[in-house]
Amino acid sequence: MKSKQSDFFKHLFGGEKSSPKIEKRPLVLSYSQISTYQQCSLKYKFQYIERRPTKPSPHLDFGNTIHDTLKDFHKEFDPKRTILEDLLNLYEKNWVAEGYESQEQEEEFRKEGERMLRDYYQTAIKNPNLPLYLEESFKFRMGDCEIWGKIDRIDRLPDGGWEIIDYKAGKRRIDEVGLEADLNPLEIDENFQLSLYYLGCKEKFKKVPKKVSLYYLKYNQKLSATRRPEQLRDVEKIVGEVASQIREKKFEPKKGPLCPWCDYKEICPTFKEGPR
Ligand code: SF4
Repeated sequence: MKSKQSDFFKHLFGGEKSSPKIEKRPLVLSYSQISTYQQCSLKYKFQYIERRPTKPSPHLDFGNTIHDTLKDFHKEFDPKRTILEDLLNLYEKNWVAEGYESQEQEEEFRKEGERMLRDYYQTAIKNPNLPLYLEESFKFRMGDCEIWGKIDRIDRLPDGGWEIIDYKAGKRRIDEVGLEADLNPLEIDENFQLSLYYLGCKEKFKKVPKKVSLYYLKYNQKLSATRRPEQLRDVEKIVGEVASQIREKKFEPKKGPLCPWCDYKEICPTFKEGPR
């Protein structure tokens, strides 16, 4: 018996045509939803099923400011005319001041953002790749799910290939076992978010991206990788597993190093019991 997963894979890479029967309403999932479920399924329930509000966060506001600034910058970017002050003015215009706990904290983030953007500008002016798309949204069917997302940037490379770029604006990123995970080349190779974006680009534009990249603004460094069919099979498997557990209403707390930063720790029965 053919599975929906293998049907999707054939559709993606050609071969036998399939005519999947849609038996249920698709479960709509984004990368954030899937990764939240993987981190802790109870948190997923609080956030995406019960729709409990999240708390203001300096990291969230900072990330939004940087993303909006770079989007505006590239909309107008002309390597012969655009100057650093144009980028810094956009940064000022897009600054969101709501999530910071104090003026000192806000100032600290503001300075860090300015430093990152100054470095970014120097790289952009030397490598003026013109983006084809900025913050381009996509959605596509995968099995009994609908996957959606927004790609920060898609560039056309000098050889005509397409590159998917996702900005990472965080001051630092902690992986699921509590280690700093920035700038690990293996991470780019296996990055689930980039794989979903690869598929989203292929489905929306019928164009296979040549490479996928994470741009770590903190280090002004971009790490790139390609995608192989077997990696994409894994993506489909992960999505299928998460979706079936959500449909079965499996929402268990999963304690981890990120619990102290969880917006729902006050109402989480497990967090109150103390550390693991
Ligand atoms: S505090 Fe930890 S275990 Fe509780 S909901 Fe949040 S992430 Fe899950």
